[in-house]
Amino acid sequence: MNEDTIAAVSTAWGESGIAIIRLSGPDSVFLADRLFKSSSTLAANPARSMRYGHILDPAGEFIDEVLAVRFEGPHSYTGEDMAEIHCHGGTMAARKTLESLLELGARLAEPGEFTRRAFLNGRIDLAQAESVLGIIRARSDKALSSAARSLRGELSSSVRALRDRLLALSAILEASFDFPEEDVPLPQLAEITPDLTRLQNEAESLFRRCRDGQILREGVRVAIVGCPNVGKSSLLNALLQESRAIVTAIPGTTRDIIEAVLTHRGVPIRLADTAGIRTPADLIEEAGIAQTLTALRESDIKLWVLDGSRPFGPEDRLVEEQLKGERFLVLINKTDLPQSLDLDRFGDLHPGIRCLPVSAKTGKGIEELKEEIVLSVSSGGILEEACNATARQVEELRAASALLSEALQARSLDVAANCLRDSRLALERFLGISADTDLLDLIFSQFCLGK
Ligand code: GDP
Repeated sequence: MNEDTIAAVSTAWGESGIAIIRLSGPDSVFLADRLFKSSSTLAANPARSMRYGHILDPAGEFIDEVLAVRFEGPHSYTGEDMAEIHCHGGTMAARKTLESLLELGARLAEPGEFTRRAFLNGRIDLAQAESVLGIIRARSDKALSSAARSLRGELSSSVRALRDRLLALSAILEASFDFPEEDVPLPQLAEITPDLTRLQNEAESLFRRCRDGQILREGVRVAIVGCPNVGKSSLLNALLQESRAIVTAIPGTTRDIIEAVLTHRGVPIRLADTAGIRTPADLIEEAGIAQTLTALRESDIKLWVLDGSRPFGPEDRLVEEQLKGERFLVLINKTDLPQSLDLDRFGDLHPGIRCLPVSAKTGKGIEELKEEIVLSVSSGGILEEACNATARQVEELRAASALLSEALQARSLDVAANCLRDSRLALERFLGISADTDLLDLIFSQFCLGK
């Protein structure tokens, strides 16, 4: 248990209905009661029931009319004694209340410290702690439900079960290495292969489900590229029609890069319409083009837009150059007009590339396009089973699965045993069983203040 009491404003700063100041630690209720004035103290009020009152600062100045509540550890978010003061939104009342609490001896919480305490007090495991982050950041229904599943512990229990079975298999191998004099018979590689194959399949499936979860949360980054006038902006508008999209402009030098987020089948699609790539006329334009290239590099899929109503030109060739080695999808736009793009020749140059005929004007092919984008990133319809996981967790599962594949390829038992052990360690890092302070710092620093 922690000795000190931490405090923070847990709601977002800015104008809002209410703002919540949270305290956690042994002096939470005592400190809240120093400011909270009501017909009885918060300490005398039953736990988990709201009490109406006022907040006066240590000098007796009125700050706000509030509701306050206390929680008794272990029945609280952090597992410790906690108190919450719900004051009016806006920054002043919450800030003054927090400042008063700090003046009285509370310490300002670090980002994620409340959740970190919940983890350190054993109330949740690391996977659950990280799913809190998933809930905070969820932008679609599916992302939210996958994060909620992880918070309830579904993901942790699958990973834990896998880890326990790895441990059991390791134990058989290690026992035969460590106690040869006991005559523990050394198993043959072939004997453990069926078990190992099953474990590898499960690790792989968990990895895929978590990677899908990451896509659900973070979305697919799509860059729309093509030379001027092929209809990039029109396509963006066509994609956004009937979708409740959030459009933001990322300031640029020549022109803003427009970013819009829409969801299709629960997957956020983050579209960036980039400034046309062409030979720069001046330095400013050159900077704009450099920015386009960055957006292009960072995207998961590129949509290369061509104008079907005119032949392939030198400007298109420039775009083609930029796309070399990238994953892209070709959109033949303006299919409502007479066509003069030589598709056969194009197909010969780019064998295996998907070409979708669309018309930004009539809306033809737009639904198919959204479907194609989602399909290209999800591992074939299993988005329903997606689990929320952070990038770190996805990497641990990727490693665990790869190490089991390596164990399957191994030619000797001790190589297989080493891979098995490393794979188990990756799962343990996932769960936080062997988490060191640096890892915890890294994870919890991503949280916002007050969480
Ligand atoms: P951008 O420079 O690539 O962003 O191209 P715009 O979206 O500004 O479009 C250039 C011109 O092509 C505009 O006059 C559009 O109205 C027109 N345009 C875009 N898409 C279509 C289409 O599918 N069919 C037709 N007929 N015209 C289109």
